[in-house]
Amino acid sequence: MPAVNITLQPQPGPAQRTRGDASVDHAIQAIVAGASIAETCNTDLAAGPWDFDARPGYGPGSSMGDVIPTGAPRQGELPREYRDASEPDLDRRIRAAKATLGDRVVVLGHFYQREEVVTHADYVGDSFQLANAALEHPDAEAIVFCGVHFMAETADLLSRPEQAVILPNLAAGCSMADMADIDQVEECWEQLAEVYGDMDEKDADGRVPVIPVTYMNSSAAIKGFVGRHGGIVCTSSNARTVLEWAFERGRRVLFFPDQHLGRNTAKAMGVPLGQMPMWNPRKPLGGASVAQLDDARVILWHGFCSVHRRFTVDQIEKARAEHPGVRVIVHPECPMEVVDAADEAGSTDYIRKAIAGAAEPTTFAIGTEVNLVQRLAAQYPQHEIFCLDPVVCPCSTMYRIHPGYLAWVLEGLVAGQVLNRITVPQDVAEPARVALERMLAAKPPAAVPSNAMPVVADAS
Ligand code: SF4
Repeated sequence: MPAVNITLQPQPGPAQRTRGDASVDHAIQAIVAGASIAETCNTDLAAGPWDFDARPGYGPGSSMGDVIPTGAPRQGELPREYRDASEPDLDRRIRAAKATLGDRVVVLGHFYQREEVVTHADYVGDSFQLANAALEHPDAEAIVFCGVHFMAETADLLSRPEQAVILPNLAAGCSMADMADIDQVEECWEQLAEVYGDMDEKDADGRVPVIPVTYMNSSAAIKGFVGRHGGIVCTSSNARTVLEWAFERGRRVLFFPDQHLGRNTAKAMGVPLGQMPMWNPRKPLGGASVAQLDDARVILWHGFCSVHRRFTVDQIEKARAEHPGVRVIVHPECPMEVVDAADEAGSTDYIRKAIAGAAEPTTFAIGTEVNLVQRLAAQYPQHEIFCLDPVVCPCSTMYRIHPGYLAWVLEGLVAGQVLNRITVPQDVAEPARVALERMLAAKPPAAVPSNAMPVVADAS
């Protein structure tokens, strides 16, 4: 896998990073204690994630209504000393373990991670940036990924075999990635073959019936499937480029797991909505007719992000009414109507750069995960920055990683134990790397039509 030229964001010291309390956890504690008039989606968020480790479901937060697949990894019981430790004690123990380990470990923190964990990260970024950050440290024995399961898998795909990638809480999955289960995807492919015939047969233009495209936010098994069937991975920064690549090789695209990124990107490329049927894996032919599948340009998997699905056009209208001149930026995982109503759509990295690049004091209404918005508001006090969603509701799965788990895995490394290692089996890893390599090799089209989305960047 070649190295990727991306902008990494090494973590500055705490004093440079925040000038206010960016902690969503502290905000939730204040709401639950009645010290704040704000609302949270679930007061159970004030409890430790270990209270939910043994229960079915993703735990409290944005995806608490989503169905967790059977066989999803479960976190064993966190030792009591970590559950009972105070925040200052955990902070001290994490710093001590990191100091002892030195260059032997790299800690990666996703943009949506809670502040109490991000403060210990060597790099903060989106999933693909962080996976590549590990490449900067080929001699590190362990990469502790404070994100979710698919991110740790991607880091394992990109890192050296002897490096251990560690996910501090195994229950930190991603409900969107879990919506594209490999068995369902294989079944979908078989059903499509019944409609389209030989999936490898090329037409007069040299194009096969379908090219599968998966968003980075998917399991390694799905990336491997895509690699085996001539397909490719995309991030939200290159989704358009990747779709161009796919349309050169196939008459249609099967896009998973995020219907919204697929729809928003294809719509901006001029694909009519009527040629984007949805594939619901619980229905025969995904719930579409043979005629719809014949006419399809993009078949959208029935997946979504429960964080970004919370944003609405009403919230944007309210923000505009209450804050004249507000600049509304949303993530492209938001529903199409929300992206259409916003001023701009772009990834976490795009949002961060847009705020950092604003020369004049500006009011920003942001449609993405609340931990990132709160952190940006603390980092850029010259601007007014608020989350479009008035309810404090973090990404449930990312929130599973509490400092207690980080202290546990780091102290484990100090004691010579590798806890919670994530390893992608070789038979999956090889085709998954092929799909990633195709993405890295895909080039943007020479001319960008005027109906392109303003800017979209990177994974969530
Ligand atoms: S924000 Fe959405 S896509 Fe990202 S990890 Fe959470 S559930 Fe998954």
